Amino acid sequence: MTFTAPETTHYVPKDLPTHIQHFINGEFVGSVSGKTFDVLDPVSNTNYATAAAGQKEDIDLAVAAAREAFVNGPWPKMKPRERARVLNRIADAVEAQEERLAELETFDTGLPITQAKGQALRAAENFRFFADLIVAQFDDAMKVPGSQINYVNRKPIGVAGLITPWNTPFMLESWKLAPALSTGNTVVLKPAEFTPLSASLWAQIFKDAGLPDGVFNLVNGLGEEAGDALVKHPDVPLISFTGETTTGQTIFRNAAANLKGLSMELGGKSPCVVFADADLDAAIDSALFGVFSLNGERCTAGSRILVERAIYDEFCEKYAARAKNIVVGDPHDPKTQVGALVHPEHYEKVASYVEIGKSEGRLLAGGGRPEHLPEGNYIAPTVFADVAPDARIFQEEIFGPVVAITPFENDDEALALANNTKYGLAAYIWTQNLTRAHNFAQNVEAGMVWLNSHNVRDLRTPFGGVKASGLGHEGGYRSIDFYTDQQAVHITL
Ligand code: NAD
Repeated sequence: MTFTAPETTHYVPKDLPTHIQHFINGEFVGSVSGKTFDVLDPVSNTNYATAAAGQKEDIDLAVAAAREAFVNGPWPKMKPRERARVLNRIADAVEAQEERLAELETFDTGLPITQAKGQALRAAENFRFFADLIVAQFDDAMKVPGSQINYVNRKPIGVAGLITPWNTPFMLESWKLAPALSTGNTVVLKPAEFTPLSASLWAQIFKDAGLPDGVFNLVNGLGEEAGDALVKHPDVPLISFTGETTTGQTIFRNAAANLKGLSMELGGKSPCVVFADADLDAAIDSALFGVFSLNGERCTAGSRILVERAIYDEFCEKYAARAKNIVVGDPHDPKTQVGALVHPEHYEKVASYVEIGKSEGRLLAGGGRPEHLPEGNYIAPTVFADVAPDARIFQEEIFGPVVAITPFENDDEALALANNTKYGLAAYIWTQNLTRAHNFAQNVEAGMVWLNSHNVRDLRTPFGGVKASGLGHEGGYRSIDFYTDQQAVHITL
């Protein structure tokens, strides 16, 4: 097994903060309690900063500021066009800082630098998209001639609690911030504790763009402390959460007392189904990208590859050869294709699945730490073939560069295998037979399907999963619906 070793040494961005604070009511502040937690970089696994560890009292302050900005501030009452101007300035600022954002994100998360750059641009695009959408927004009016007129009055809801994970943190934050703010809500963001660095950049970006104080508030901290307090706060009517399914279940229970609006984007174990008539080279390219881009730390990763028996051996051989040539190394090196996993705890989890896989499948590539990288959270792209559907590596989300390949005999078996997990986030289907492709899409239990293509999103389309992968949809008008109340007004003529 050979890996190409990138030549650079570990890159540390200039002017890193040594302490990451909350941002409440337009000011950077520490925790009321003075508590902090350590933040590691995933290449050296040393603490490069501490972050304020938000507790209930910090969440109380942030929610009070957001509530005041919602009730008495200008933001919810501004005309859509005025809000859109602010959102477009935010997008411009994100684009202008693309290089800096990418280097910080790469340093904090271990994502390859070339992929982190794309994430910054997607974040800017989210703001532009919702700026356009709110200006073009119109609502229903229903008329019974001579008798009644009814119309819909769309209103922002209040303080939205946004809880985000550590994979592509800045982009995923934008995915919630842009629709929540564009619709006139105020927010409290609780970013993931593994990767708090880039979230604090929003504060200056928003200030410079003219977002009024108190509209955006940021509280760092652990999920069980800051996140929990946000979920339970009575003045936070909405929680938009992205993270693990089990965390989603806890949040669901904790939000019940206050009957909150919930949007849940959860885990996945998505199938990539390759039929014998597929364009094999394109399918292999896509199936590699599907599980090894973003270090495999991608909710929509195609982490189970199902391959029709007639091309199974050829597929496995070609796929494994390509996986072995993936460049693993320092995330900041532009040649790197798989960087360091986010945190030693996550590294241990992924490494343990690699060991489990060795007794559940036939190891074709990878299988642990690359020889040339003795330190840092590196796992070689790992491919297991002949994986049975009851295997743990077939059923459980690994969230790293590890893939299970399983053969199938016919369309019915492919569908049964595809649907044989508790998750239902995405599915990828490769076949030249479009009738089969559309029928498969109809029957596969997945919130999103890509036919002969991969993971390019049109921001207007619904985003979300079924089964244990989520509840509700965001994306385009569905996000506008989640972050607004639609009041029906009836007039008798
Ligand atoms: P996680 O569930 O551990 O944490 C996510 C966020 O929830 C963090 O900010 C964390 O601090 C917070 N949290 C944890 N416990 C909490 C509690 N009791 N109350 C309130 N907040 C709490 O997830 P993670 O490990 O950061 O992220 C990886 C997971 O996210 C994977 O399962 C992945 O599939 C999923 N994900 C899903 C999507 C999607 O769109 N479906 C996108 C990205 C990631």
